[in-house]
Amino acid sequence: MTAPEIPFIDLRPGEDDSAVRGAIDRVIARGWFVLGPEVEAFEAEFAAASHASHAVGVGTGTDAIALLLRAMSIGRGDEVIVPALTAAYTGLAVMLAGATPVFADVDPERLTLDPAACDAAITPRTVAIIPVHLYGQPADMSALQALAERRSVALIEDCCQAHLAISDGVPVGTRSAGGAFSFYPTKNLGALGDGGAVITNDATIAERVRRLRNGGQTDRYIHVEAGANSRLDELQAAVLRARLPFLARWTSRRRSLAAAYRRALPETIRPLREHDAGHVYHLFVIRSPERDALQSHLRASGIETLIHYPVPLPDQPAFAGVRRGECPNAARAARDILSLPLNPRLADADVARISDAVGAFQKGRILA
Ligand SMILES: *Cc1c(COP(=O)(O)O)cnc(C)c1O
Repeated sequence: MTAPEIPFIDLRPGEDDSAVRGAIDRVIARGWFVLGPEVEAFEAEFAAASHASHAVGVGTGTDAIALLLRAMSIGRGDEVIVPALTAAYTGLAVMLAGATPVFADVDPERLTLDPAACDAAITPRTVAIIPVHLYGQPADMSALQALAERRSVALIEDCCQAHLAISDGVPVGTRSAGGAFSFYPTKNLGALGDGGAVITNDATIAERVRRLRNGGQTDRYIHVEAGANSRLDELQAAVLRARLPFLARWTSRRRSLAAAYRRALPETIRPLREHDAGHVYHLFVIRSPERDALQSHLRASGIETLIHYPVPLPDQPAFAGVRRGECPNAARAARDILSLPLNPRLADADVARISDAVGAFQKGRILA
């Protein structure tokens, strides 16, 4: 296997290199590695950047969702609706909290949780809805918020792909009980390992997540509930603090690369439409009825692409025991979506080259 000429992503630090190394050295020199000053400072800085009153650092994005649910006393016997097309971790987090995930279909265009499908999936056991801001595009939060209020269920947001995203003018994670973020290395704000955070405007929820992430302790060695061990560590918090000042610029770069793709791609290819200008382009996704052949063609042209996600949640073996409905929009998307490389370090020339390669494939198909 030779490395692709245009990899999907390169995770080595770039312009942030010296800031990241300086942060790591600072933590090593201090000799304080868990729940210290870096986590505390990052929480304040990330809350401010996200326009939330509180942020709590945790071990992963998955734990951020699970601990947010637990902090709201959601668990065994409760149903929580999640979209059929997302990272499996959204559903796994619901199970981790002890609750049952119920899958609802996505909107055929936007590929985020469809409010009507969500409404239809509500039962007397439903306690919460978790829209996912998939690919960095906010879900239809106005409709979902109205639905949650009308049906008296809680709303929490999976913001793992949507750092700094704005939904109808409101920062994601702030128009619900809380938002869950991941700092997995490939995310728009990534650590050099795993990391996550919960943001919320509810002080009670923030305090409970704080307790739950640290073994359910109130005072040292006093565990008042069965908490998790899910703490953001000092090294990762320091790395995230070093990178946070770059995030707004990296997000603008993502948006301009997406716009460049829209201009350069052949008219016969359909990129996912932008429904909200607050989209932060974690991924740039196109759809093609000949997706697999297109992906092979791009691979042969030295361009690495990925599929997010090839298996809808209702079809995952891990959820075999869960009640399943029909989710045809998610099923269709899983067959025709393709994620093209898009990250702040991608060059304009790369977008041109990738778009040309897609164009060459389309032309070959029309002539064939
Ligand atoms: C990455 C991701 C998660 C899980 O985050 P981890 O930090 O990997 O646990 C959950 N939901 C979505 C939509 C994600 O993209």
